[in-house]
Amino acid sequence: MPYSHTKVVGPAGRYGARYGMGIRRKITAIEVKQRGLHRCPNCRSLVRLRRLAFGIWQCPKCGFTFAGGAWIPQTILGRTLTPEELKQVEIQKARWRGASQESGS
Ligand SMILES: [Zn+2]
Repeated sequence: MPYSHTKVVGPAGRYGARYGMGIRRKITAIEVKQRGLHRCPNCRSLVRLRRLAFGIWQCPKCGFTFAGGAWIPQTILGRTLTPEELKQVEIQKARWRGASQESGS
């Protein structure tokens, strides 16, 4: 394998040195999640959904096409996350709240 330019930030490495480290780390977290398993809203099976376009997802099992989040098939508002995912979301939200308060004052 040749030298990797994207060792640190993974898939977000395609953005090069732009946008800052923090945002690229966030993108990496999102993209890793994007590749994971998600529950199909139609057949309820846990599958690797196919992203047809921005916010358009398709279930490979039943062929059901639906609109979801731009980055992940199910949006936070959808409330169909697993308890573990929900916990992560809460942690992340608290972190964002803390960060915005710091910069606001
Ligand atoms: Zn399905």
